Amino acid sequence: MAIVSAKEMLFKASKQKYAVGAFNITSLVQMEAIIEAAVEKNTPVIIQTSVTPTKFLKAEVVVAIFKALAQSVNIPVCLHLDHCTDVEFCKKCADLGYTNIMFDGSHLNFEENVKRTREVSDYCHQIGDISVEGELGTVSGVEDQIKVAEDDAQLCDPDKSLEFVERSGIDLFGPAIGTAHGIYQTENPVIDFERLGKIFQKLNQPLIQTPLVVHGGTGLSEPVVRNLIEKGGAKYNVSTNLKYILMDSTFEYISAHPKEYDPGKMDKHVKMATKQRIEYWIDLLGSTGMAM
Ligand SMILES: [Zn+2]
Repeated sequence: MAIVSAKEMLFKASKQKYAVGAFNITSLVQMEAIIEAAVEKNTPVIIQTSVTPTKFLKAEVVVAIFKALAQSVNIPVCLHLDHCTDVEFCKKCADLGYTNIMFDGSHLNFEENVKRTREVSDYCHQIGDISVEGELGTVSGVEDQIKVAEDDAQLCDPDKSLEFVERSGIDLFGPAIGTAHGIYQTENPVIDFERLGKIFQKLNQPLIQTPLVVHGGTGLSEPVVRNLIEKGGAKYNVSTNLKYILMDSTFEYISAHPKEYDPGKMDKHVKMATKQRIEYWIDLLGSTGMAM
C-alpha cells in the first residue's frame, strides 16, 4: 500500500482540488523528515530527486533507503525522478524502483519531445506500475543542470497539450505557465492561471484524465498557490525552499554551537527544520488527512 505510482495518488487530488507535495531532496536526512511529516499529517507525498543528486547519492542507494522508510508507513508514498533529459537514465531509474519518471524534453522540438517521451512511457508502462511525467513549453530559471533564461521561456500551448499527452503516452503533464525554478526575481511573477485552467479542461474530460504538475513552487504567495490548485494543479513541486532550509538550519546550528563536534545533533536540528517546513506546505496544499 505505501509505495505507489504518482498517477494513482494524483487522480484523487485532481478531483478533490488539493495538491500533493512533491519535495526535492539532496540529502537522506530530508527524505526522513518528509516521510515523518507526511505520516503526522496523514497525507500522500512524493519524494523527488533531480539527476545530479540521484547520481551523487546513487540511484540504488536512494531507492533502498526510500523502500526501507516507505514500507514501514501507512500513507501512499512515491519516488520520482525529476527533470531527466536522458532516456537511458530514465529507464535505469525505473528498473531500480523509482515509481514515477519525468522525462524532460522541453528543450526539444515538439516531434522529438513526443518521440523520446513516448519511449520512456512505453518502457515504464511495460515493466510495471510506473507513471511518467512529461513537459511542454519551458519553465524558466535553473533546475539541476538545465538553465533557461526568463525571456526564452515559452509557455505551453493549450491546443498542443492534448496532442502531446495522447501521442507521448504520459500519465502526468507539466505545462509551462509562467512559474520559475529557483528564486523569483520579481515580487509578483506573471503566472498564466487562465492557461492552466484551459489545459486542465482539455486534459480532463470523460475519456482522458491527466493530472497537472506545477513546477517552480518555491516563493509563490499563498493566494497564488491556492489559485494554481483551484485551476487544476495536482502535483506541486518544491525544491529551492528545501535547499535554503537545509543550508540555513545547518549554518544556524554551527553558529550557535561553534565548539560542538556532534554531527548527529546538527542532523536532528536540520531534520526538525525541514519537517516543520514540509508540514507548512502540506497544510497549504490542502492534502492534510488525504492519505486514504
Ligand atoms: Zn521542475
